[in-house]
Amino acid sequence: MLTVYNGAMTDARRKVSCPLCGTTNYFPENPQGKKVACGRCKNSLPEPGTVVEPSVDGLWNLVRQSSLPVLIDFYSPTCGPCAMMHPIVERLARRRAGEIMTVRLNVDTSPEVAAAFRINSVPTFVVAIKGTERARTSGAMSEMDFSLWLASQT
Ligand SMILES: [Zn+2]
Repeated sequence: MLTVYNGAMTDARRKVSCPLCGTTNYFPENPQGKKVACGRCKNSLPEPGTVVEPSVDGLWNLVRQSSLPVLIDFYSPTCGPCAMMHPIVERLARRRAGEIMTVRLNVDTSPEVAAAFRINSVPTFVVAIKGTERARTSGAMSEMDFSLWLASQT
């Protein structure tokens, strides 16, 4: 298969927000196995499209600072529908790499964050940007429904 290199298009897909300080960075096209550090806090950045589980501080920084919308998957490790949604969320995160920043948060270990977001069931998905909640939905759903919901919000 022939790979067509389009700099502008690929660059646009290489944005990622730092899970520690929330700053949005450009991730190099070919880091050649080297760690890529956040320009602001020097924390190593995840590959765009990766679902990460930030610390509580990291989550708040992302919600406040990220220039990409942040999709938060509020889950519990003991919840079956949450486990069903994880691979769907991971595929969506990869497909929307550079457009959204996807994170997950365990409501059992971070109940204070769950309370701040008024999460009363899991899974609940929240889209937030620059400190403002844009959208939320709860419960397991098909990959098609989930991607349509996300596309209508971001
Ligand atoms: Zn950082």
